[in-house]
Amino acid sequence: MLKLKTTFFALALAGAATMGTSLTASAQDKATVGIAMPTKSSARWIDDGNNMVKVLKERGYNTDLQYAEDDIPNQLSQVENMVTKGAKALVIAAIDGTTLSDVLKQAKAKGITVIAYDRLIRGTPNVDYYATFDNFQVGVLQAQSIEKGLGLKDGKGPFNIELFGGSPDDNNAYFFYNGAMSVLKPYIDSGKLVVASGQMGMDKVATLRWDGATAQARMDNLLSAYYGNKKINAVLSPYDGISIGIISSLKGVGYGSADQPMPIISGQDAEVPSIKAMLRGDQYSTIFKDTRDLAKVTADMVDAALAGKQVTVNDTKTYENGIKTVPSYLLKPVVVYKDNWEKVLVESGYYKKSQFQ
Ligand code: BGC
Repeated sequence: MLKLKTTFFALALAGAATMGTSLTASAQDKATVGIAMPTKSSARWIDDGNNMVKVLKERGYNTDLQYAEDDIPNQLSQVENMVTKGAKALVIAAIDGTTLSDVLKQAKAKGITVIAYDRLIRGTPNVDYYATFDNFQVGVLQAQSIEKGLGLKDGKGPFNIELFGGSPDDNNAYFFYNGAMSVLKPYIDSGKLVVASGQMGMDKVATLRWDGATAQARMDNLLSAYYGNKKINAVLSPYDGISIGIISSLKGVGYGSADQPMPIISGQDAEVPSIKAMLRGDQYSTIFKDTRDLAKVTADMVDAALAGKQVTVNDTKTYENGIKTVPSYLLKPVVVYKDNWEKVLVESGYYKKSQFQ
């Protein structure tokens, strides 16, 4: 009798589980998730879009992936379309984090879950969650790579450095800059690092739209105005695409040779051309942010929110968007050098070795 009862109970449980699964699956079949990405001009965002689609499809969702080529009105109309077409959740990597308030108000009115992806959406109460990396730590790692490359901890110096920031309309740019300055500022204060141009602070060093050509033009100006008779030893760069611009500028005036070596240059996103630049000795470091993990965390948020379950976050203090503090999940960034790139990027399956041959 006891055995019978147990069996019956087990069967009932299994039945309930199956029913549960099929119910969720069919609910998810119907749900479309709108994914708004900033631009295809950088490989990282292409990976982000692909990974999001892959993970969401595996979980039974329909996806609507759009890229806006860094054009703010374009992204706005893409998100408006997603709302009109009935998306149940929006995953948005904003171009300008302050321009989406009106459309997100409409989204809220329709009960759509809004997730800020990688970049915080600012100035609206209508963003539910934020999935990203520890952005302050990204800056810390970039600056620590400069500290290491120059040997600052061993007391070497003084060295000349110039600072570059990201796009002033991207909240992340301030976190990267502040994180980096938390490491560099003491050396600047003690004179071990000298910013020959004196240009410090995001209001002076930002690079609109993270544009490599803009960075290259600024670097050209810095080199001709301040480095006519001295050498530059390091450049804080927040993003690989900006590093590429900086490197071209430096090469243009003869850096990258035995008697005029490349300065120590940081980066971010571990993009293939920049790993190659690192292997050539043009760039010193980059930061890897595993977009596969970010996609998974974001999909978990979508799943939980649409099922009315508690969404897992690990930070409820840091990301104040001007109106509210957005519950966030922060992943860990990893610094990449010439000596660990294979382990971090190839052994993890993120890239194939053949991409670098
Ligand atoms: C991202 C970085 C990226 C930058 C430029 C930032 O918001 O967090 O990973 O390098 O945008 O695309």
